[in-house]
Amino acid sequence: MPNELIVYILIVIIAGLLSSLLSFFSYFRLKDAPGARLFMLVTLFSAVFTFSYAFELASTSLEQMKFWLNVEYLFMPFIPAFVLLMCIEYVGQKPKQWLYYVLFSFPIVTIFMHGTNELHHLYYKSIQINNDSPYPILMLEHGPWFYVHSIFLFLCLMSGVITLLMQLKKTKLFQFRMQIILMVAGIIFPIIANYFYINGMSPYGLDLGPVSMSVSFIFHGAALLSYQMFNVTPIARDTVFENMKDGVVVLNQNDRIVDYNSALLEAIPTLNAQVIGKSIFDVVDRTGLLAEIILLEKECDYKCCKAGKNAFYNIRFSTVRNKNNYDIGKIITFVDVTERVNLQEKLEILASMDGLTQVYNRNFFMQESERTIESLILNGGNVSIIMFDIDHFKQVNDTFGHEVGDMVLTGISRVVKDSLRTDDIMGRYGGEEFIICLPNTSLIAAYELAQVIRMKIFQTVMPYDQVDIRVSSSFGISSTSTDNGDASQTLQTLMREADQALYSAKRKGRNYVELYKHDFEVIG
Ligand code: GH3
Ligand code: MG
Ligand code: MG
Repeated sequence: MPNELIVYILIVIIAGLLSSLLSFFSYFRLKDAPGARLFMLVTLFSAVFTFSYAFELASTSLEQMKFWLNVEYLFMPFIPAFVLLMCIEYVGQKPKQWLYYVLFSFPIVTIFMHGTNELHHLYYKSIQINNDSPYPILMLEHGPWFYVHSIFLFLCLMSGVITLLMQLKKTKLFQFRMQIILMVAGIIFPIIANYFYINGMSPYGLDLGPVSMSVSFIFHGAALLSYQMFNVTPIARDTVFENMKDGVVVLNQNDRIVDYNSALLEAIPTLNAQVIGKSIFDVVDRTGLLAEIILLEKECDYKCCKAGKNAFYNIRFSTVRNKNNYDIGKIITFVDVTERVNLQEKLEILASMDGLTQVYNRNFFMQESERTIESLILNGGNVSIIMFDIDHFKQVNDTFGHEVGDMVLTGISRVVKDSLRTDDIMGRYGGEEFIICLPNTSLIAAYELAQVIRMKIFQTVMPYDQVDIRVSSSFGISSTSTDNGDASQTLQTLMREADQALYSAKRKGRNYVELYKHDFEVIG
């Protein structure tokens, strides 16, 4: 046997051993991982195919060669189908039933055509021993079905490559990108080898398929070993990370973006594939609130605009540590809490309003007024309080009934609310008595406003059952400048004084506005 052939047979045997090794490895180490079962099958089939090819090369007679060629063809036609299915499973998709039928019917027909070639010569037009080569080798003149099989093989491998490249587009992490690139390289290699073989460019018509295929599995094996291809697959990342409802961004220790998921685009729409590797502060407004939150790692609710509406995210931080417990980065999670915040706001409004008159209830009035007075104390300005009470309201109830009384109360509060500025605070003090806090309003201005309101109430006609109901109200006003002091005390005092003035207004015959003067006497 010539040396050249021995060397080539040895190479083929090594390739076969390599495939067997990878098959064993995947069987024992990667059993349940996605794509691993198919990897095991494809390497096993490749091993048998490659060893058979070694026997074919070592054969001396045409009969022996044909025998081993037939053995090769029991396994080889399935390999492209397995490779494609492996790629599909690897990227986390489930092949459709029809694809199985297509992928397995072609190899079965190929095996049949190959096995029965003597009868129809559709696979090989002729099978001879090449006498020109330095060693006996099969010279095969290809028939039509051989080309059908070649196209099938090419399409399977190309579909595998496309499937992987589509995943590559979606995958941002370097590690997973490398896995996919290795997988793609592993498929492209036999395509090139097959191209040489089919076009008669391989030396002496040696089939480069078996060796190239085994070599290609080194690429898959490399991906498998270095990156645990089938253990930590992109699927895990995509399904868990990408389909998370919460937005997540991973930063390294220099605050550079390592990865983010699509959900985060809602909170930070400026994110795109190009921001990977850039500082997070190049992506969010450096001077904005979000940049400050990230810089200070302040866990809080963050408000932003989403589709023209307000959205709220609860921002949380967690540290990423390596095996040696060194901080190597952080994960920032944006949990959409819009519903919770909206509900909270609704509840707050509900808890702050008086159900009947739709003005603030007493508690909330006190809170808001104290807050307003507090800021007035800081910034300077005066504040006035108006208290008013509907005159002879008991009579309304007694004459028309409680429900009509309610209607009158609602009507009056609407009339008053319409006369106020946005900063003015109106509350129901109790029963048919109301209170208004007027920031930056002098005693005189408050008096004028009270007169306007008094007139408006008096002129308001509320028709009921062919009767026009009209009521009047009495007003007490107090005022102070807020140069110093305590907000709560100031408010309490003002309210007491306004109440005293109101009492005086009642005594003076009602439908009257009374001012409280600070020398502790009510202006008479
Ligand atoms: P005055 O001019 O002295 O204020 O006389 P008044 O009748 O208005 O005063 P009084 O305190 O004697 O009566 C207040 C009435 O207001 C008694 C109460 O039934 C009625 N009232 C208090 N809250 C409501 C309410 O929510 N709805 C209705 N319909 N009536 C209410
Ligand atoms: Mg009253
Ligand atoms: Mg009253």
